[in-house]
Amino acid sequence: MNRRTFMALSAFTATSALWGRIEEIDSTVTSGSADYTVLSLLKKLNIVQNHVGYVQFNILSFDELLKTASHCKIPLTKEEVAFVESIFYGDPRKYGFFGERTVPELTVITPKKDVVYINKTGHFLMKGAATEKYAQIKRLIGNDLILTSGVRLPVKQLHLFVKKMANSGGNLRLASTYIAPPGFTFHSVGDFDIGKVGLGQYNFTEKFQETDVFKKLYDGGYITIRYTANNLFGVRFEPWHIKVTGGFETA
Ligand SMILES: [Zn+2]
Repeated sequence: MNRRTFMALSAFTATSALWGRIEEIDSTVTSGSADYTVLSLLKKLNIVQNHVGYVQFNILSFDELLKTASHCKIPLTKEEVAFVESIFYGDPRKYGFFGERTVPELTVITPKKDVVYINKTGHFLMKGAATEKYAQIKRLIGNDLILTSGVRLPVKQLHLFVKKMANSGGNLRLASTYIAPPGFTFHSVGDFDIGKVGLGQYNFTEKFQETDVFKKLYDGGYITIRYTANNLFGVRFEPWHIKVTGGFETA
């Protein structure tokens, strides 16, 4: 292995390990009872994410997923595609998720010119309202603030959802309490998640509310929380999730 390859590989490993630690949904499979399609799809999504890289995977389109999976010699089966379509186009109210649809088509593409990469975070924000809001928050908090998740197109959301399904024994109700199904997340249209530097995975727990970062933002009225405690959407309370776009008021 030449030096350049080695450097590239170690940079990839270091950065993905860093970002992997603060992913909203961890990849531990705690139950073997999720069905075969879910588990094999999860494996393929993991492989494609490694292939395109953690950052680009956030904005990978469904057609690019299909192409990359074929390129990696793990083409999605008919059953897997049918499963993805049933989750994307199906009615999530059947399993207790009442959030509104944000993306009409599974094959949606977000042009690179419409997003901005936020340095050292592994994530993109939509140009316009999202970047402005983030800049405002960043000015208030400074170096203690980290963007923990930004733009997530349906493929990225599918990956998080399928991970949660795999560690919820395939239970859609449970999975959708933690993570909106693909097609129903406001991350696809502008919302983002923030955290406190150094808090790691705890940024995605109620511990985040105890931080000075959260208190400053909340007291200053800088943030509107989309999913408040006991919300009617069947979504857990997410104090780290910043609402940018329109849609139903949940407060
Ligand atoms: Zn979020």
